[in-house]
Amino acid sequence: MSNVKFFGGEQYPVEMHKVRIIQKLNLLPVEERLVAAQEAGHNTFLLENKDVFLDMLTDSGVNAMSQDQQAAMFRADDAYAGSATFTRLRDKVVEIFGMPHFLPVHQGRAAEHLLSTVLVKPGTYVPMNYHFTTSKAHVVANGGEVLELIKPEGLQVTSEHPFKGDMDVAALRALISDKGADAIAFVRMEAGTNLIGGQPVSLANMTEVSAVCRDHGIPFVMDASLIADNLYFCKTREASCADLDVREIMRAMCDLYDVIYFSARKVGFGRGGGICVRDDRLFHKLRELIPLFEGFLTYGGMSVREIEAITVGLDETMDLDMINQGPIFIDYMVRELERRGVPVITPPGGLGAHIDAMRFLDHLDQHDYPAAALASALYIASGVRGMERGTMSEQRNADGSEPLAHMELVRLALPRRVFTLSQLNYAIDRLDWLYQNRRLIGGMEFTEEPEILRFFFGRLAPKGSDWPAALVAQFREDFGDSL
Ligand SMILES: *Cc1c(COP(=O)(O)O)cnc(C)c1O
Repeated sequence: MSNVKFFGGEQYPVEMHKVRIIQKLNLLPVEERLVAAQEAGHNTFLLENKDVFLDMLTDSGVNAMSQDQQAAMFRADDAYAGSATFTRLRDKVVEIFGMPHFLPVHQGRAAEHLLSTVLVKPGTYVPMNYHFTTSKAHVVANGGEVLELIKPEGLQVTSEHPFKGDMDVAALRALISDKGADAIAFVRMEAGTNLIGGQPVSLANMTEVSAVCRDHGIPFVMDASLIADNLYFCKTREASCADLDVREIMRAMCDLYDVIYFSARKVGFGRGGGICVRDDRLFHKLRELIPLFEGFLTYGGMSVREIEAITVGLDETMDLDMINQGPIFIDYMVRELERRGVPVITPPGGLGAHIDAMRFLDHLDQHDYPAAALASALYIASGVRGMERGTMSEQRNADGSEPLAHMELVRLALPRRVFTLSQLNYAIDRLDWLYQNRRLIGGMEFTEEPEILRFFFGRLAPKGSDWPAALVAQFREDFGDSL
C-alpha cells in the first residue's frame, strides 16, 4: 500500500495487491436490516453473516491470505509427530523473533492460559500497559491481579501522541519498590494495544521497561498479536527506527523480551498461535502443558494447512508493503471521519477506526449503553457490523452495580487486505449521515443479561421509544429507494 499523489494534489491510498478470489456480499434494504437487528437483540455479535454487508466486527481470523500462503497450504505435511510443516514454522519463528525456543498453541488465549498457569501465583501482580479481555481473565483465574500502567495520554480520546500504548515506567518502578520484585509474576507489554484503539508502543519505551525488568529479574513478556501494525508505526513515527528495515526493528524489539506470544489469527494472516521462550527452564515447564491442553508438540492444536499459511504470513509481515495496508486505510478512514466532524479516536492506530460514542451520542446517559446503541444504529443505517467496546463489554460488580467503561467505543475493525477504498467510503458516508441524525438515536436496556461476558450473548431493546423505526423512516426520506 502506498499513499499516491493524484493530479489534483490529493494523496490516496492505492492497494499494492490485486483481488483474485472474491466473496459475494449482500446489502439488505434498510427495513430488512431493522428486522435483522431486532432478531439479534440489537447485539452485533448475534447477527447472521448473511445479513451483514461489511463485516468490521474483528480482525481475528478474517484477514485475507496471499497466493503464496494458499500455495503453501497444499504442501502441508500431515503427520502427528515430527511434521516437516511444523519444522518450517519453528525455523521461521526462530529466524524472525530470534528466540531459541518455540511452542505451538491453537490461538492467542491458549498462550495466555499456559503462561499464566506457570507464572502467576495467587497474590501476585501482573503489570501491563493495558489489559486485553482474555489476557486479564487468565491472570485472574490463577489468582493474580492485573495492574494497568498506561501513560495518561493513552486514555485521552483525541491526541496527536504517536505512541499512546506506552507504559508509565516511573509507575512500574514505584510498583516494584512498593510490592517487591518477587510479587510481580511478569510484566506484560501489549504491542500494539487492542482495547484502547490499536495504539502502538515505541521501541524506546520497550527498551526502558526491559531494563527495569532485567534489573529486578522479572520476566518481560510481549503480546505480539498486533505487532504488524506496531512495526509500521515504529518505522514511520519513531526517528530511531527510520533507517532500520522491518526485520531489524522486529529483532531490536524481540531482543528485549524473555517471552513473546502471539495470536496468529491476527499476525501471520492465519489461524493459530505460538509462544517464543528464551529461558530453558521456563521452556521445559511450558512444554509439559502443550500435549495436555493443545495437542502434540508439532502441531499444538493447529491444522497443518494453517501452520503452512502462518509460516508464509510471518515472512510477509516483514514486508512494509504488506503490513502498511491496514494502518494506511485506517488513517484514511479516521481522517475522513474527523473532517466530517464525526468523533473518533486519534491519532489513527492499528486494527480499525474507533468511533467515540460518548461524544457521538452526548445526549445519552452512559448507563443507557451509548456504544451498543451506536453499533446497532450503524448496522441499521448501513449493514456495517462493528463491535461495542464500552460499558456493555464490562461485567457487573458483585453487588449488581455497573462499572462504567473508561471509553464508549464502536470499533470498526479493518481486517487486513479485505476491503476496498469504495467500501470504506460507503462506511464513512453512512457514519456521516448517522452523525447528522444522531438525535434520533436513543438508549438501550438489557432484555437478557448473561452474568459473564454479557457482550457476547446479551440481548438489548431500545429504551423509552422505538427510535430504530424513526431512524429507518428518516433513512427512506433522505435516500429514497436506495439500499
Ligand atoms: C486477539 C488477541 C488475543 C487473543 O487471541 P485469540 O487468538 O483470539 O485467542 C490476545 N491479545 C491480543 C492483543 C489480541 O488482539
